[in-house]
Amino acid sequence: MIAVVGAGLGGLLAANLLAKEGYKVEVYERLPFPGGRFTSLNYKGFEISTGALHMIPHGSRGPLAKLLKKIGVRVEIIDSKPEGEFLWNGERIEVRRRVFPLKAILKFYKELAISKFKDRTLDIFANSLDDFTKAFLNSFLGWSLSIYSEDITFRKFYEIFKQTVKYRGPGIPIGGCKAVIDELVENLESMGGKIYLRKEVRGIKKSNEEVKLLIEEWKCFDGVISNIGHKLTAELMGEKVNLPEESRGIKYTLKLEEPFLEHTGVLFIANKNIAGMNEVTNADPNLGKGVMLQVHQPFKGDARRAIEDGLREIREVVGKNFELLAVQSFSRDWPVNRIKAGSDLGVVFKERIVVVGDGAKGGDIEVEGIALGVEKALEELRRWI
Ligand SMILES: Cc1cc2nc3c(=O)[nH]c(=O)nc-3n(C[C@H](O)[C@H](O)[C@H](O)COP(=O)(O)OP(=O)(O)OC[C@H]3O[C@@H](n4cnc5c(N)ncnc54)[C@H](O)[C@@H]3O)c2cc1C
Repeated sequence: MIAVVGAGLGGLLAANLLAKEGYKVEVYERLPFPGGRFTSLNYKGFEISTGALHMIPHGSRGPLAKLLKKIGVRVEIIDSKPEGEFLWNGERIEVRRRVFPLKAILKFYKELAISKFKDRTLDIFANSLDDFTKAFLNSFLGWSLSIYSEDITFRKFYEIFKQTVKYRGPGIPIGGCKAVIDELVENLESMGGKIYLRKEVRGIKKSNEEVKLLIEEWKCFDGVISNIGHKLTAELMGEKVNLPEESRGIKYTLKLEEPFLEHTGVLFIANKNIAGMNEVTNADPNLGKGVMLQVHQPFKGDARRAIEDGLREIREVVGKNFELLAVQSFSRDWPVNRIKAGSDLGVVFKERIVVVGDGAKGGDIEVEGIALGVEKALEELRRWI
C-alpha cells in the first residue's frame, strides 16, 4: 500500500499512475477539497483559482497533457492564440522571434557559450540587452516563474527556454484547473484508489521495511509520496532542511464589462510590478459570469505595499471600469512555487519517501515541471515497493 500526503496536482498525478499500475493507493488531504493550488472556488459566479492562473504552460502539447493522456484522463485544452503579446509603450506587440533585435539573439548565443564554462546569474545577460528585450525577459520571468533575473542562472533558464521552444506556449483547460483535478479524482476512484479529505498527516516515521504516517493513529505503508515539499516533509519527521527561498506572488481577479485582451493568450507588461494578465473566459466562457481578467505580480518583501503598487498599475493599464473580485497573496507554505524555479532539490527524500509537486520539478516550468517530476519520483519509488 502506498500513501500520498496531499491531494495537490502532483499527488493526484502520482496516485493515478500508481493505481493504473495496480498498486493500492491512499491519498490524505487536510483541506475539505482536493487540488491544492490548482483548483478553483466559485465566487459570485466566477471560478477563482486557489493558485494557478488556469493556464497550462505548454498547452495541449506539453508534458502535463501527455501525462494526463497516459493516465487516461480526458481534458480539453484550448491552445492560446496568440501565445503572447507584449505591452510596450502603450502598444500591444505579438511576441514572435522577429520582434527581438538580432543583436539580442547574438548575445543570447554568446551567453550560452559562456555558460558551458561559467554558470552566471541571468541578470548579467539581462543587463546586457536592449531595453525592449530586457523588459520582455523580466515580465516573462515574473509572469511564468514569479522570479527576478538575479534569482536564476543562465543554465537553468536555458533548460526552461528549450522546453518552451520545443512545446511552445500556453493553453487553458476547459473548466479551468478544477476540471483537471475533478477528472483525476474520478479516474483514481474508478481504479480503486482512495482519497480522504479533511485528514491531515501529522507525523512520519521510517524504518527499513516501511513508512508509518500519523493520520488519526499510526498507519504502515510500503512507500510514501509527499506532495507537500521538502520543508514540510522534514518537519513531519521532526527534522529541518535548509532550503532556497520560495517564490512569492499576488494574483488579482477582475470582472470586466467588456473583454480587454480579446484573446486567449497572455499580455506581458513592460517595466511594471505587475508582470502580465490573461482573460480565460475567452477560452471558456463558463469560467465566469462575465469577463474574468487575472493579473499576476511577483513580489519580495511587504505584500501590502506590493498590492497598493499593483492596483495602481492595473488602473493605469486596464482603466477604472472593473470590479475587483479577489486579491490573493502567495508566500511561505502557500507560495507560487515552494522552491524557486531553477533550484530543484530532487525527488528522493529518503528511502521509500519521494517528493512530488512544485518542490521537485523535473526541468520544466510550473505544472509541466510537476508532470516530469512525478515520473522521475515514481521511477525512484519503484526501487523500494
Ligand atoms: C498565483 C499563482 C499563479 C500560478 N499560475 C500558474 C499557472 O497559470 N500555470 C501553472 O502551471 N502553474 C501556476 N502556478 C503554480 C501551480 O499552481 C503550482 O505549482 C501547483 O498547483 C502546485 O501543485 P503541487 O503538486 O505542488 O501541490 P499543492 O498545490 O502544493 O498541494 C499540496 C496539498 O497538500 C495538502 N497538505 C499540506 N500539508 C498536508 C498534511 N500535513 N496532510 C495532508 N495534506 C496536506 C495541501 O492542503 C494541498 O492541498 C501558480 C501558482 C500561483 C500561486
